[in-house]
This record gives sequence, structure tokens and C-alpha cells, in this order.
Amino acid sequence: MCAARIPSSRPPIVRKPTFSPTRFRTYIECALKYRYIYQDKLGKFYLKSRAGFSFGSTLHHVLQDFHAEGATQTPDEMVARMDVNWIAAGYETAEQEQVHKAAGAEIVQAYHSAHLERAAAQVETWATEKTLTSDMGRFKLSGRVDRIDRHADGRLEIIDYKSGRQETTPEEVASSLAMNCYQLILSRLYPESSVFATIYCLRSGVQASYSLQGAAKEAFERDVIVLADTILDTDFAPLRPVRVEACEDCDFISRCSRFWKMQGREAEVDTPHFDE
Ligand code: SF4
Repeated sequence: MCAARIPSSRPPIVRKPTFSPTRFRTYIECALKYRYIYQDKLGKFYLKSRAGFSFGSTLHHVLQDFHAEGATQTPDEMVARMDVNWIAAGYETAEQEQVHKAAGAEIVQAYHSAHLERAAAQVETWATEKTLTSDMGRFKLSGRVDRIDRHADGRLEIIDYKSGRQETTPEEVASSLAMNCYQLILSRLYPESSVFATIYCLRSGVQASYSLQGAAKEAFERDVIVLADTILDTDFAPLRPVRVEACEDCDFISRCSRFWKMQGREAEVDTPHFDE
């Protein structure tokens, strides 16, 4: 005999939407692209592998392993680990891939030296490849940081690796949506700590930092809330492709181009032709 099921009186768990800097950036570039990736889930059909992404991912894995294993690997072991973890997708030629491998070997060796210098200066690697999340009310703000260091004076430093770049400036860090999101989240999670962010160009070792504080932080937080509210209140269904600057480098261009072609044909059919 089956026992009758007693309906649960608990309300269903409603998950808050989560926004990351990448989601924000995608929406700012093109709302339709945002819909294609995050709502229609079309990314797996359109988003292409790129050498820059593969190179960056390979290096992130190697550096993550280095720290996860207690930073005991030698530079040569790091290079060997890079070869094992190498992601080959997206390289256009074998030569291009070899050039990146050689650059990768130099980068991990230089990273090893920089790590020893940091350790000597009593800078502790506090976390690597860490997802930070803060509840912002209507939504959650989340971001994955490459590394967080804790300095001897208690300051927390968020480090973002750039694998394709040689130069950066404090102005770039100050205007970076991602770096400011990370700082906002970390300072909300650890309000007693002073927080700053650094962009670290792995190829050159060049770094630049900026600390988001006071009125600038409050203004940024307000902007983030307005942006998230705008996305949450957007009706994506009626959106159609409209040419924007981001089209030039967008993997959905073939899809949108089909729409524009059809539109062009329909316009031709609708336009009356008069014989002279
Ligand atoms: S091709 Fe242009 S309109 Fe189409 S999704 Fe990409 S950025 Fe948006």
C-alpha cells in the first residue's frame, strides 16, 4: 500500500541571479550577444577557440598547480608541467604554437623568480584561482580572481594575470570593470582589510596597481547595481541584431549576418520598382 505524499509546506528555493564582470562586459558590448550566450546558450555552437585564450588558460593552470603544490617546483619542473598541460586549440600554425611555447617557458621561469622575491618580502600567497561572491540584494556579484596576496601590513592584493600584454598603468587598473568588481567584492567580504588590485603582465613582469576606496567605491557600487537592474529588467525576446562596434570581433557574426541578408532581401521585395 502506498502512503499518500504530504505536500511540502516549504517555499521553493529561488536562486538569485549572479553577475560577473564578463557578463557585464558582454551586455555592455551587445545585449543580443548576452542573450545568445547566457539565455539561449548558443556559445557552444559559435564561440571559437583562440590562441590567446589557450595560452592564458595553460599558464593559469601551471601557476595554479605551482601554488597548490606548495610552491616547491623548480623552474624546469614548471616548464615541464606547462608542456604536459599545453592547450593546443586555436593556434593557426605549428610555428605560432612554438613561439608561444618558448614565451611560456620564459614566463614561468620569471614567475618563479618573482615568487621568491615576494616570499622574501613577506608577501604571502593567500589564495589562487578563487571565486569571490557577494550578495548585493537583488543579485549576487561574483568573480574569479587569479591570485590574492596578503602583505605583512595586512593589505590584501588582488592580482590579475595578463598573458598577452607587455604594459599596463594604474589608470588602466582604475578603469577596469573586472578589477573594480573584484575589489568591491573582497572589501565587502573583508571590511576590516585594506584592498587593492594589480594587473600583472606575465610577459614583461610589468605591474600596476590601484585601490578603489571611499567615494569612488560607493559610486562604482551604485553603477554596478544600476547595470544589474538594467539587465534584469531587459526584455531580451524582441532583440534583433543591430550593427555595433563589437560586431567586428564577435563569434556570432555569421548568425547575425544571415539575419541582415534576409532583411536586405525582404527590403528589396518590398521596394516597388517602376519602369521608366
Ligand atoms: S555580431 Fe554584432 S549584433 Fe550580432 S551578437 Fe555579435 S555584437 Fe551583437
